[in-house]
Parts: sequence; structure tokens; C-alpha cells
Amino acid sequence: MAGPRQGPGADPAPMLFVGLTGGIGSGKSTAARMLAELGAVVLDADAFAREAALSSSPRFAEIVGLLGPDIVRPDGELDRAAVAAVVFADPAKLRALEALIHPVVEARVEQELARYAGTDTVVVLDSPLLIPMGTDARCDAVVVVACSPERRLARLLERGMAEDDARARMAAQPSLETIASRADHILDNDGTEAELRDQVRGLWTELKPR
Ligand code: ADP
Repeated sequence: MAGPRQGPGADPAPMLFVGLTGGIGSGKSTAARMLAELGAVVLDADAFAREAALSSSPRFAEIVGLLGPDIVRPDGELDRAAVAAVVFADPAKLRALEALIHPVVEARVEQELARYAGTDTVVVLDSPLLIPMGTDARCDAVVVVACSPERRLARLLERGMAEDDARARMAAQPSLETIASRADHILDNDGTEAELRDQVRGLWTELKPR
């Protein structure tokens, strides 16, 4: 990953922390990749959450305690499909799992933000749970990728996800209305990727006029 821009000649504008959210399959990762191409540093909350659930993580024993030993594979790591089957059938367990994992994700985000403090970097956090977890309050701007549920489902199936799994994951997330009401910017991704790219370019010029 490129290091922070600092030193003589650095732009005096402060770091900008942008939260990028939307339902699964809405196109967050696609928009995040486009922002990275324009120069943003992208943090992937899902990747941090996966790290937090590794057997080497201090939270691992609590996760197994919550979900039971059947979710551990023979190699000692979590069976992600088994975890999904348990938590998407039991909202209380999903919330409890999130409560274990979220503080670890939050700490990783803060660690990355500290790296870029004092630079003019635009740091984008790609997170499906930005708003339910309250991380939006920490952001300078909240960007929501909006896409109809039908199109999200179609794209997830095209990506190879099983329909039951896709529907369960979609149902566990807040509605578009809920998250859109918190948005400073909305990217409409019901169209083509080229149309999304145009909107991302427009967003970038607003975020980074420096
Ligand atoms: P998310 O990160 O929100 O789950 P992704 O960015 O991974 O969503 O997008 C879901 C799938 O849809 C991916 O396979 C992606 O390539 C595809 N996709 C995203 N935006 C578009 C678009 N505008 N047109 C067609 N396919 C798209």
C-alpha cells in the first residue's frame, strides 16, 4: 500500500474520511475500486472482519463459544458457510457476533486513520454496516451506493452466490431508505458500470477539489 503523502510541498488540506456503504451486491466494492484508481486509500471493513475471526484473533475463543464448535473446520479456522447458516437464521446471534467483531474492526480503522492523519489523503471505508455500527458519525462524508434489491440479487447470483445465502444476507442489512437518509452523496448503481464511473468521477471532484 502506498505510504501517506507528507513533507515539503504536501497539500495543506486535511485528511478526509469517507464512509462508503450500501447493501450487499449494490456495487460498493466496485465504487471503492474506482475511487482507489482516482487516488483514494480504501479500507475494506469486511476484510478487517475476516481478520478478526481468524483463529489467531483474540476474539476467536469467544466466537466459538457463541456459535458452538461445529463452526470450526478441521484446520482450526471458522467454516464461514456454517457461520452464515447459524447467524442468518438467528438475528440475536448475528448481533452478538457483530458485537464481538466490530470493536476489532473499529480499532483497525482507527489504526489506519492514524497513519494518514496530517496528510491530504482521502481515506474511504467500504463497509456494509457503516450506519448500523455508528461509524458514519466518525466520517467527514457518507456515500451510499443505491441499487434496487432485484438488481442486487441478480448481480450476486451472477457472482456465484447461492440464492438462499444472498437473500438471507440482504434481509439482515438495513433498507436502502434507512441508509439513504443518512447519505451526503448517493451513487445510483442501477445502470452500467460506465455510468457508475461517471458518478464516481463527479464525487471525486467534489471530495478532492485540492
Ligand atoms: P458489494 O461490494 O456492494 O457487495 P460489488 O461491487 O461486489 O458489490 O458488486 C456486486 C457484483 O455486481 C460484482 O460482481 C460486480 O462486478 C457487479 N457490478 C457492480 N456494479 C455493476 C454495474 N453497474 N453493472 C453490472 N455489474 C455490476
